[in-house]
Amino acid sequence: MTSYPRIAIVGAGPGGLTLARILHQGGVSVTVFEREEHALARPQGGTLDLHLESGQLALRRAGLYDEFLTIARYEDQGNRIYDKDGTLLFADDDAGDSERPEVDRTALRQILLASLPKEIICWNHSLREVLPRDDGTYDLVFENATIGPFDLVIGADGSWSKVRSLVSSYRPQYSGITFIEFGIDDVDTRHPDLAAFVGHGKIDIKAAGKGLTIQRNGNAHLRGYAIFRVPTDWADETFDFASPAKARTRLAAEFQGWAPSIVKLVEASNDHIVSRPIYALPVGHHWQNRIGITLLGDAAHVMSPFGGDGVNVAMLDAAELARHLLESDDWEKAVRTYEADMFERVIEPAEHAAEAVATELSHLEAEPLLQFYRAHLEVRQQGSTA
Ligand SMILES: Cc1cc2nc3c(=O)[nH]c(=O)nc-3n(C[C@H](O)[C@H](O)[C@H](O)COP(=O)(O)OP(=O)(O)OC[C@H]3O[C@@H](n4cnc5c(N)ncnc54)[C@H](O)[C@@H]3O)c2cc1C
Repeated sequence: MTSYPRIAIVGAGPGGLTLARILHQGGVSVTVFEREEHALARPQGGTLDLHLESGQLALRRAGLYDEFLTIARYEDQGNRIYDKDGTLLFADDDAGDSERPEVDRTALRQILLASLPKEIICWNHSLREVLPRDDGTYDLVFENATIGPFDLVIGADGSWSKVRSLVSSYRPQYSGITFIEFGIDDVDTRHPDLAAFVGHGKIDIKAAGKGLTIQRNGNAHLRGYAIFRVPTDWADETFDFASPAKARTRLAAEFQGWAPSIVKLVEASNDHIVSRPIYALPVGHHWQNRIGITLLGDAAHVMSPFGGDGVNVAMLDAAELARHLLESDDWEKAVRTYEADMFERVIEPAEHAAEAVATELSHLEAEPLLQFYRAHLEVRQQGSTA
């Protein structure tokens, strides 16, 4: 790119920061606006597996592959399935050679932030709206300030994007599935029995129309999701989230009659118990190009997390948008090309995620997941003997 547009990126999530890093490295100046007050204002969430061809590729292009290796937990890629009586149905404990290592979200954000000059990120800037000017540029309206003009505004502001409304009237729809998130701290020391039950990776239990997914994170932390197919307001009506002790007891009651080790996983939770209703945009969501506005990641195509693709797709969007902008002399055309490619590329993971959420908690219980893991293990074992 020979002449640079004035670029604003809204959102310092994995997508927005990856884009900022690659553009900055390419000599393009950008400003990132983030509503959180600072980098550690809230826990960034659980562990993510970064895929070779997307999340990892983006970090390579960002020149951060060595940093990625320092936070990648290859040893935590195991998978187990239990039934509700605590009987082990499937175990793949030896998955350290797989190519989708886990990283903690906070650690990922930290390596991206450390790679950028501090002044690029404007913390505590919650976007309210984007105002078009008569000359085709845009102002960003925040609580206490209006900042602009910008030639190109990139919405990397997640599921409830404020930038999206300039190009699309769609809003994410509730999938019918709600997660109740909980977590167990210092599990190796405080609950070695639970640490052994979960192992190095993730466990799934699906029975009686409910599910539990519990995953080992860094720093001996377990993050759990209790999964329910319920109306949108069920969680708020059922749990007193203001009282973690009451919420914990109520959540444990949902699993009454399941094996004691499973109920104990819920009872051992810390006070961070929150509801995460799962929303998604329609598969194939797209828009007519509008000069000076585009979206990436969840803002463009939030999907259910069952496919495990969301962050990977977001980071690849960022890497691809940056590549098109850096390679082209015409930034408007670069954005059009990025959008056309991205709309196509995202269909497959979005379909996969939509299918997975539609069949989650069916009468087949753990059977589809068992078949998936068995097939996956077989392919890996064939690969290692080939
Ligand atoms: C329970 C759950 C589990 C998941 N597990 C996985 C998984 O295992 N693997 C996986 O790949 N994906 C997973 N995902 C999906 C993944 O979290 C997202 O796809 C990914 O974070 C998208 O990155 P992003 O940068 O597009 O958006 P986000 O990570 O949502 O980042 C958006 C950023 O924008 C900021 N922001 C939002 N609104 C504004 C505003 N108005 N003004 C300024 N800033 C704003 C936010 O504070 C945030 O920092 C999961 C999602 C959920 C809900």
